[in-house]
Amino acid sequence: MTDIMIPAIEEARAEIASLSLRTRLFIGGEFREAASGRRYVTENPASGRPIAEVAEGGPADVDAAVAVARRAADDGRWSRRNPGDRKRILVRWANLIESNARELGLIETIDAGKPITDTVGLDMPETAACIRWHAEAADKTYGQVAPSPEGTVATIVREPVGVVGAVIPWNYPAQMAAWKLGPALATGNTVVIKPASTTSLSLLRIAELGTEAGIPDGVLNVVTGPGDTVGEAIGRHPDLDAVAFTGSTEVGRRFLHYAAETNLKRVLLELGGKSPQLVFPDVTDFETIAANVAIAVFWNMGENCSAGSRLIVHRSVKDRLLQAVAAELAAWRVGDPLDPATRIGALISRGHMERVLHYIEVGRSEGARVVTGGSRILEETGGYFVPPTIFDGVRNDMRIAQEEIFGPVLSVIEFEAEAEAVAIANDTPYGLAASLYTQDLNVAHRVARDLRAGVIGVNAYSEGDMTTPFGGYKLSGFGGHDKSLHAHDQYTETKTIWIQLAAR
Ligand code: NAP
Ligand code: MG
Repeated sequence: MTDIMIPAIEEARAEIASLSLRTRLFIGGEFREAASGRRYVTENPASGRPIAEVAEGGPADVDAAVAVARRAADDGRWSRRNPGDRKRILVRWANLIESNARELGLIETIDAGKPITDTVGLDMPETAACIRWHAEAADKTYGQVAPSPEGTVATIVREPVGVVGAVIPWNYPAQMAAWKLGPALATGNTVVIKPASTTSLSLLRIAELGTEAGIPDGVLNVVTGPGDTVGEAIGRHPDLDAVAFTGSTEVGRRFLHYAAETNLKRVLLELGGKSPQLVFPDVTDFETIAANVAIAVFWNMGENCSAGSRLIVHRSVKDRLLQAVAAELAAWRVGDPLDPATRIGALISRGHMERVLHYIEVGRSEGARVVTGGSRILEETGGYFVPPTIFDGVRNDMRIAQEEIFGPVLSVIEFEAEAEAVAIANDTPYGLAASLYTQDLNVAHRVARDLRAGVIGVNAYSEGDMTTPFGGYKLSGFGGHDKSLHAHDQYTETKTIWIQLAAR
């Protein structure tokens, strides 16, 4: 998929030692300190040690960034550029992200604890691919002409909403930014974006590459700092036209309050999940399914909104499948994220690790049985490592089956009949993703339709690709979709222009 070389561990260490990190706010095409002069420490979750101090923005910095972005929106330096120009600049940006994937991936790995094979090999190439896909659509999307009466012309055009705010999480820092920035910028908006404070470093460098690619100053602005100050200031800002958020359902809800209490800005929410993986009794290829099951729940340490954290498996194939999953996991090395052999790195923070370990205790006390994993490992490194953990004997009403753990924890639940499997799968407050495994086309179609979730994988764990929309039902999402041309709708207004022609 990519020809980017993953560095060996010694090489990676040497390159990290010579990195020059961007740690200040990026406003109007320039780096600057926070108005308060404050900074906070960002740490490496694989060692618990500090990496750098990052500018701690506050509401005054959000005001400054929005003012700059508003001026850039009003004078048309981006929105009125030819779509082909916007495309060219954004494609150049994507190319720069790709050619700097190694540096960006190293930054992401030390800041977020994610394995280097994922950050350099997947996250950065996919970040570039996302920007490029949306960029290429910039001069390929058309408006409409309505079938209005004789003597009139009615066009329906899409215009940028104006200034977009974005607040994103720490699990895929670069990619989640790209999911917002690609369509928002391709459709001509200006943006003020806040990365998660634990993982701000990659986006600051990516924004700088944007300027190098030719994105005009003021079009893309990054304000770093905590959610309860910077995030809330974005949510409440009276001069933002829309806000796109990816994160927890709890914080997502707040954005609806912020908008309702201020200027009714458009709110787009991509939230949490408790996604099911259903395995029907007719399956035969246990190895492939086990590999998919493991990726679904343990990839990215389980810090994945669409993680398949409930395995709903037919009683007759459960033991065989769990044996295959155990065999698969033998190859999943947990450890130093800089080691190319590592599949599972560190959880994002001590606080988050404690939350995950707490859920494991909750599962035990609810009567579920740990069959693998279950406690912290590699404590001597100072890092926050939890190995793949599987609970057997889970009932769907247990907390570990209902609440999003956001860590490497799988709950195994048995079923007998198809309708029961669907009922269990749908019985959570979430509805982001689901996967199902069967050889029977009828079961596949029936169940794919019955599942209340936004993305269904059949005989694979998949979120689709850039061409397909991504978003959730129920408490998993609100107001729109990321990826594909559906994402462009989120960042554009629909305008009707009705023209009366003079009589012949
Ligand atoms: P989070 O706590 O909701 O944080 C997400 C972002 O919101 C961060 O930038 C955070 O800032 C900010 N924030 C926190 N409190 C805020 C407040 N009161 N007002 C405004 N902003 C605030 O979520 P997370 O722990 O970073 O990420 C995990 C969650 O994201 C999970 O629930 C996961 O399912 C979800 N997720 C969903 C998708 C999807 O596409 N559906 C994708 C990835 C993740 P600070 O962290 O800097 O304080
Ligand atoms: Mg960090």
